[in-house]
Amino acid sequence: MGLLDDKVALVTGASSGIGEATALALAAEGARVALAARRTDRINALADKLGDAAIAVELDVTDEGQCRNAVAATVGAFGKLDIVLNNAGVMLLGRIEGADTEDWRRMVNTNVLGLMYVTHAALPHLLETRGTLVQVSSVAGRVARVGSGAYNASKWAVNAFSESLRQEVTARGVRVVIVEPGMVATELGDHITDPLAKAALQERKTQMTPMAADDIARAVLYAVTQPQHVAVNEILIRPTDQEQ
Ligand code: NDP
Repeated sequence: MGLLDDKVALVTGASSGIGEATALALAAEGARVALAARRTDRINALADKLGDAAIAVELDVTDEGQCRNAVAATVGAFGKLDIVLNNAGVMLLGRIEGADTEDWRRMVNTNVLGLMYVTHAALPHLLETRGTLVQVSSVAGRVARVGSGAYNASKWAVNAFSESLRQEVTARGVRVVIVEPGMVATELGDHITDPLAKAALQERKTQMTPMAADDIARAVLYAVTQPQHVAVNEILIRPTDQEQ
């Protein structure tokens, strides 16, 4: 018997890193999982590995219609929705002065609006099941740093939106969980367009022992397997040697 037998989960950004690791962890506890991302080769391969317990759903979260379709596809395949992991995100670091503002649009469209669209589409189903919404924010949603301003702004927005929603729905049994990881070894930094910011991140990584995606998956699993009367509101989780 798994801890999540009979539960249905939707994971955005399931094609790599934290999303992939958490999807596997949820499935290992018996959940049926919809794996959503843009890279269909990767989510198809993961779905094949999980068999009948999973479906792959092509999703670009910046498109509201696709977010609605992903939620509908999950409910269509498995009959309901108990857990949503709003994890899709990009971290295009760089200073504000002289920034390529296209990076800002990508971060706001993905990290903020994408998460909001998925939340909006999933909410009626979560209210029906008294489900759990897990919002992947970051230490960057609590601590601002030079070279991270627009990313900080996007994750601050995630925290504000999610805390407001928590107050709106918690009395009706929907648990909203904010997860705020520090440095995790994933491909997130590979997409940074500013060479100086990319090099600075590489340097910062050498100053600590980053967490693994599995470390975050275990934190999510902890939150979503609590009894119904226990709401884990926020998990701030850093590498032990990450000071800020
Ligand atoms: P990855 O780059 O490995 O994962 C990011 C995921 O987001 C991918 O699966 C990617 O899939 C998906 N994604 C990106 N853009 C879109 C989009 N437009 N539509 C749908 N999916 C999208 O990095 P992580 O696993 O590290 O990142 C996951 C989350 O964790 C992010 O929200 C990130 O901000 C957060 N985080 C990460 C930390 C770290 O140190 N790694 C620390 C704190 C927070 P695809 O490209 O296939 O669409």
